Amino acid sequence: MLGLMQDWPLTVDRIIDHARSWHGGIEVVSRSVEGPMVRTTYREIHGRAKQLSNALLSLGVLPGDRIATLAWNTGRHLEAWYGIMGIGAVCHTLNPRLHADQLCYIINHARDKVIFTDLTFLPILIEHRAKLDCVEHLVVMTDEAHMPADFPALCFETLLAQHSADCAWGGFDENTAAGLCYTSGTTGDPKGVLYSHRSNFLHTLGTMGADVLGISARDVVLPVVPMFLANAWGVAFSAPAAGAKLVMPGQHLDGASVHELIETEGVTFSAAVPTVWRMLLQHLRETGGQLSTLTRVVIGGSAVPEDMVRAFRDDYGVTVTHAWGMTETSPMGTQSSPNRAVAAMDAEEQLRYRLKQGRPPLMIDLKLVDDQEQVLPHDGQASGRLKVSGPFVVREYFREAERDILAADGFFDTGDVATIDDQGYIQITDRAKDVIKSGGEWISSIEIENLAAAHPKAAMTAVVAIPHPKWDERPLLLVQLKPDERADRSEFLQFLDGKIARWWMPDDVVFVDHIPLGATGKIDKKLIREQFKNHVVQPIAAGLSPEEPNAEEAPADAPGPFPPEAAGASPARASTLTMVALSGALMGAYLWRSFGPARR
Ligand code: AMP
Repeated sequence: MLGLMQDWPLTVDRIIDHARSWHGGIEVVSRSVEGPMVRTTYREIHGRAKQLSNALLSLGVLPGDRIATLAWNTGRHLEAWYGIMGIGAVCHTLNPRLHADQLCYIINHARDKVIFTDLTFLPILIEHRAKLDCVEHLVVMTDEAHMPADFPALCFETLLAQHSADCAWGGFDENTAAGLCYTSGTTGDPKGVLYSHRSNFLHTLGTMGADVLGISARDVVLPVVPMFLANAWGVAFSAPAAGAKLVMPGQHLDGASVHELIETEGVTFSAAVPTVWRMLLQHLRETGGQLSTLTRVVIGGSAVPEDMVRAFRDDYGVTVTHAWGMTETSPMGTQSSPNRAVAAMDAEEQLRYRLKQGRPPLMIDLKLVDDQEQVLPHDGQASGRLKVSGPFVVREYFREAERDILAADGFFDTGDVATIDDQGYIQITDRAKDVIKSGGEWISSIEIENLAAAHPKAAMTAVVAIPHPKWDERPLLLVQLKPDERADRSEFLQFLDGKIARWWMPDDVVFVDHIPLGATGKIDKKLIREQFKNHVVQPIAAGLSPEEPNAEEAPADAPGPFPPEAAGASPARASTLTMVALSGALMGAYLWRSFGPARR
């Protein structure tokens, strides 16, 4: 017997419909890419998203088509999201921090039909246009005044102005694909995670819980975590769902810019990776600044350091919730909010739990297993592979149906090694996957070691993560030389130069007699990580340091393993970046015209 309740497909257009109807006047404030602050409301966002849907339909976009965004967190980006998803097309968020080759691979693999881009990223697209064989239209997310003259791309504002806000949304199955995000946190090529309307909707409900993000209509929410990184941890859905005011930081994520937004807009809640908070805390210490409205921050993507939780708690009265998750889990997996037993503990004891990655909310199930797939006890001691299951956890990667990624029990192996204690708190103790997370972005250790192994003097190479105070992890290259060979570190760095993104460059090179191998003949990275966890990096010859400024590879002043100069750029630099983008665009206009849209 079926229930007799209304059939209301859980599609995400309902979220922005709700925000329009019941929180229509609530502000969405953005630091625009062009510079000025832009103030709008959920009502306006809703109407403009509908105009955008009509614009897409007029361009021939069909349900299921992939429409990419290469953009910062702004109101326009939000309009693009809802406008794309509302008509059953798939919003594919592109990560501009990826190497251009990876970006092109991802665009082609996804078969993106249209790309919405901020001015900032126009030069990258123009430069690599010839490698993209599926893109039919490029929409620059700006107004006519900022469009490069004589440039054959579409202008976001002009496109919207040509279309009405009368457009039917939804009406399709809730399992319809809504969003696509590639993760490079795996070995091999980046993998696409294809979210459905239903999974996004359930993720939104799950994360709105008091022990998760706990966002309410009284909050002012600043998602510093970009919408291109695992959906800004769902905040672009949960803030409008709750009716919270939304503050979008645009491209300036340095301490001063984030602080200014928090204070001027009265931000109460924010979410970001540790690197962002490190920059904010440093800025506060240097300027004596205060956090007068902020009460809660969620920190995840990498393990949160103890001194950060203490600084927020003791110096600024801000509660830190440590969160763990993955692109494959939409991404919120666990949160360290105290349960009743932990809340009853004294502050120091509670801190031990706050530093763990936390407990799963409803709709996330976890399992800890050993190498024989035997389930391990929740005693806080037994360490094993963490597996996850739930209605917003990946089942299969996009266009990789032949690859079975779920075990027989239906669980997805996260590649993280963890313990689970008797309160149900997980603690990530290691990573089984061969990737390094630097400032919230992935570096493939395998790719670097394969490239380095091609050096004529190398017998074997290994790349592992070593801890770093700012970027959390950085790559270290170990080299076992061929018999009777001699080499210095700069030879290897020079060899890698130009073959990998500048910020992937190892922080140091160490020559060893033997690279340790495990029982199965594979490099024993666990042992190497343990041996080198206190490695002191020796200064590298000028010109080869991974933190050296490099305008070409610093697409923006983002947190991440980019040059600190870029990360710390002030809003004043916006105009410079825009100028760079524009001049690049003008130079590329000829290129774009020559190749033209690949197919119509
Ligand atoms: P991504 O798919 O890029 O979001 O990366 C997910 C991976 O980041 C996880 O599988 C972990 O390896 C790592 N990660 C995420 N959050 C945390 C955390 N709080 N502590 C430690 N590692 C984390």
